[in-house]
Amino acid sequence: MFEKILIANRGEIALRVIRACREMGIKSVAVHSTADADAMHVRMADESVCIGPAPSSESYLNKAAIISACEITGAQAVHPGYGFLSENASFAQALQDHGLTFIGPNAEHIRIMGDKITAKDTAKDLGIPVVPGSEGGVPDFETAKKVAEQIGYPVIIKATAGGGGRGMKVAKSAEELEIAFRTARSEAKAAFGNDEVYMEKYLQKPRHIEIQVFGDGKGKAVHLGERDCSLQRRHQKVFEEAPGPVITPKLRNEIGEICANAMQKLKYIGAGTIEFLYEDGKFYFIEMNTRLQVEHPVTEAIFGVDLVREQIRVASGLGLSFTQEELEINGHAIEVRINAEKIPNFSPCPGRITQFHAPGGLGVRMDSAIYDGYRIPPYYDSLIGKLIVHGRDRPEALARLKRALSELIIDGVDTSIPLFHLLLAEPDIQHGEYNIHWLEKWLAEKFA
Ligand code: ADP
Repeated sequence: MFEKILIANRGEIALRVIRACREMGIKSVAVHSTADADAMHVRMADESVCIGPAPSSESYLNKAAIISACEITGAQAVHPGYGFLSENASFAQALQDHGLTFIGPNAEHIRIMGDKITAKDTAKDLGIPVVPGSEGGVPDFETAKKVAEQIGYPVIIKATAGGGGRGMKVAKSAEELEIAFRTARSEAKAAFGNDEVYMEKYLQKPRHIEIQVFGDGKGKAVHLGERDCSLQRRHQKVFEEAPGPVITPKLRNEIGEICANAMQKLKYIGAGTIEFLYEDGKFYFIEMNTRLQVEHPVTEAIFGVDLVREQIRVASGLGLSFTQEELEINGHAIEVRINAEKIPNFSPCPGRITQFHAPGGLGVRMDSAIYDGYRIPPYYDSLIGKLIVHGRDRPEALARLKRALSELIIDGVDTSIPLFHLLLAEPDIQHGEYNIHWLEKWLAEKFA
């Protein structure tokens, strides 16, 4: 087992990893930018190293500085969290070249899944059902037209190098296709430096259902059921729950087994999430994330396992601490993302937190790195916390969420908390009747 782990991240996820390290008796090293000198992850880790100025390109994405920090502190492994370098194959490779362990999958698997076309082809080969669409990239408008006619409108054009919900355009008819195709390409070029796009059938009322998988790198792999992350704004998740309100045990076992088998064939190591759109009883693969997800705590709550601990275990060469048969769902969990944003336009709202009070009590978990007097820097993501509740069933989890939200105080900046008070009053949310378009539609009506 490692003696010291460096965490190449900040905010709540850095704390999350430090906590797992501490429980395992492993020393932790925080890295930070000059803007984060007062951050909670720096205070909470056993050691810290400043790795550069505020912009993440010069600090949290600075591979050389992070590798030097490992050398200076004697850290043997790096946990990348999510975002930043977590899905960067060359970083995983560079660590290996320096005799350090990347706590995550091997560079080859990151590479395969990082390119969406290769990912989709690989998924197909592994027996995972995919969304009907183009065979690989779509080089020009003429081809786009042909593909659209084959699969039928509406279609969605997506960037091969895409991520974070960016670079996607929908076309409902042949008339709309030309503009959609050209804007998708230029946006992809601007956002990812690569203008390759591909096409899929645009599903009208799907739910976003993702399967948590875990592999030991030696050919054993398990699944930990699904999370329903359909409540999204601009393709970004705001509210996640497990189990999914419409997923039956039979559906879960079927898709879970397909995913676990695929990971066994790959000899996948570590945590991964296979994302699907789900409509009318069918699953359609959209992508795989080769890292820990923001919303992993809902899975931890219902299975009673520590996913970061498992990541560290398998990276150090130990097996998983549980088998598929031992995994049993217990109750229902919901996570809401607390962002420093102004509702309803969701504009970022950095600034000083004058007062913070975290909710508590049975079945309540608050993962956050903020504190009284903390100044949220304007350079990074607006996520400042995650509130996770667990109950014996969905109604209990919903009631607990409402209660916990009423206890949560964050003063000094605007946050997404009022959004969740409003959402919980909606019958559709209470009944679990929503799809990936529900939130945008509701926001448009509510704040018209
Ligand atoms: P990203 O990597 O940018 O997050 P994804 O491929 O995971 O992109 O898609 C993000 C979201 O976009 C999905 O959760 C869904 O809401 C929407 N989406 C993606 N593909 C389709 C599709 N074929 N039909 C309808 N919605 C889609």
